[in-house]
Amino acid sequence: MTITKNVSLKSFNTFGIDAKAESFCDITTIKELKTILKEQHSNSLFILGGGSNMLLTKDIEALVLHLNLKGIEVISETENAVIVKSMAGENWHEFVLWCLDHNFGGVENMSLIPGNIGTAPIQNIGAYGVELKDVFISCEAINIKDQTTRTFTKQDCKFGYRESVFKQKLKGDYIITSVNLELTKVNHKLLVDYGAIKTELEASKINNPTIQDISKAVIAIRQSKLPDPKEIGNSGSFFKNPIICVEQFKQLQENFPDVPSYKISDTNVKVPAGWLIEKAGFKGKRFNDYGVHNKQALVLVNYGNAKGSDIYKLAQLIQNTVKRIFDITIETEVNII
Ligand SMILES: Cc1cc2nc3c(=O)[nH]c(=O)nc-3n(C[C@H](O)[C@H](O)[C@H](O)COP(=O)(O)OP(=O)(O)OC[C@H]3O[C@@H](n4cnc5c(N)ncnc54)[C@H](O)[C@@H]3O)c2cc1C
Repeated sequence: MTITKNVSLKSFNTFGIDAKAESFCDITTIKELKTILKEQHSNSLFILGGGSNMLLTKDIEALVLHLNLKGIEVISETENAVIVKSMAGENWHEFVLWCLDHNFGGVENMSLIPGNIGTAPIQNIGAYGVELKDVFISCEAINIKDQTTRTFTKQDCKFGYRESVFKQKLKGDYIITSVNLELTKVNHKLLVDYGAIKTELEASKINNPTIQDISKAVIAIRQSKLPDPKEIGNSGSFFKNPIICVEQFKQLQENFPDVPSYKISDTNVKVPAGWLIEKAGFKGKRFNDYGVHNKQALVLVNYGNAKGSDIYKLAQLIQNTVKRIFDITIETEVNII
């Protein structure tokens, strides 16, 4: 376990921001993690997974712990289902591919989401009609202050739309070290009604899709819509889709009859933030080395050597403009550091 001083984080965040870590340590075992937490208890720490959900607006004046805990195993099995345990540092998409290789179903709609599995519970990752909570059994986490280990059940995690207890009451208290998910071995529950999955399958003339077919369709759709962080720095959806009450939505509809919405409950609807940002005139806007993606208004991008602070200023301008035009507050999904 080596601690290195003054390390560039450019290759450790998908926005490709060249912020520096005061010091940096790669963590490969739980023993190392506990030791370093004990030794560094009075120093500030920063936890880094895949770096795909953060905008670094400044250098990190802390010890960056890069969680690189590896390993995937089946820990219990019945005729129909398995419980798979994955260590936090496994890449999410590689985990999905591992599940598909073993014909374990439940995560195929979440193919190609960047980041690590240990971070997945923090914002209850989701895509194409499926969220982590739908397959989640529990996760193990270490308390940063006293290094005790705690198991969090699904109930403990208090999952919501891109939300969990780890972003709320327990923010900054725990490091998730492993996650247990329940997956199907047979009779997979196939979800093809969300987004363009059905159209994509029809185009490939697939009538009875397998979980592998669904994964391929999701990958093709995502690749056609979202910029690849290896080519253009970004952090996926920068803002969450706002949820507003039906009364406010009716008022909005009077001024903007074409506003799209998804019913959440009898009292609330979700409005696509991408539509609001596009209507506010930001889609495809470029300012020097950063801007709003031209195919997806929800994605802010770094075309080269942009500073995180400039991208954050653009995010604030977008939030203020959307508030002024629609009287709707859009919150960031990305962690602003
Ligand atoms: C192109 C692109 C597309 C995306 N699409 C989606 C999508 O469809 N759906 C979706 O939900 N998300 C999406 N995201 C967002 C991102 O993939 C997820 O939020 C992912 O879970 C982040 O994981 P990470 O390991 O990269 O987290 P990081 O960015 O490394 O960390 C995020 C936060 O969690 C903390 N943290 C990291 N690991 C741990 C840990 N083990 N314990 C405690 N705290 C920790 C960090 O300190 C930081 O505050 C997308 C991102 C990109 C770049």
